[in-house]
Amino acid sequence: MMKVIEVAAGIIVLEGRYLIARRKAGVHLGGLWEFPGGKREPGETLEECLQRELWEELNVRIGHPTPFQIVRHEYPEKIVELHFFRCRIEAGVAIALDCAELRWVYPHEMAAFEFPPADQPVIAALQQGK
Ligand code: C5P
Repeated sequence: MMKVIEVAAGIIVLEGRYLIARRKAGVHLGGLWEFPGGKREPGETLEECLQRELWEELNVRIGHPTPFQIVRHEYPEKIVELHFFRCRIEAGVAIALDCAELRWVYPHEMAAFEFPPADQPVIAALQQGK
């Protein structure tokens, strides 16, 4: 049986726009846009993982994250379970520390960016005003 990789990802909102990050070239799903986050490490809660990942990737601290959606997706080589949290930046200004590029976009603009399949249900929910 394939191991399930648990990932926490942030749906970071500011005045109706959401922060999306472009994955670096050469990694799994390289070049695609995503809601930023990453793999949970042993001993971490998903919230702690999210705080750590957003600090490492974007140089920001976030306020209390609210669970939004859980999406399980099977790639040929792995199964990921993405835990999406809504959150706001509490301290810092987002910079692309560990990603290729950042954008703040409205939900209706997201169709112009290529996201991994696991992120699609979140885009659909945001476009429905959820
Ligand atoms: O960012 P990181 O590589 O640590 O994420 C682990 C895996 O989670 C990725 O390889 C990708 O399969 C998946 N992922 C995703 N959508 C995201 C973040 C991660 O599908 N928003």
